[in-house]
Amino acid sequence: MKLEQLLAKCPKCGSTDKTAKRKFLDEYKAHAKLDYIVCDGCGYIFEESEISEKE
Ligand SMILES: [Zn+2]
Repeated sequence: MKLEQLLAKCPKCGSTDKTAKRKFLDEYKAHAKLDYIVCDGCGYIFEESEISEKE
């Protein structure tokens, strides 16, 4: 997650309030995750699929 993403205005409603979420993927739960940011105002998803692998 980048700081610019947390400070960015929502393209739909213009709100800067947002929530970062992390969800482990079932089939890769040991080594992969899904990070995304959801607008608190309208539910717009900023970052939908960023999958990182751990060693
Ligand atoms: Zn919004």
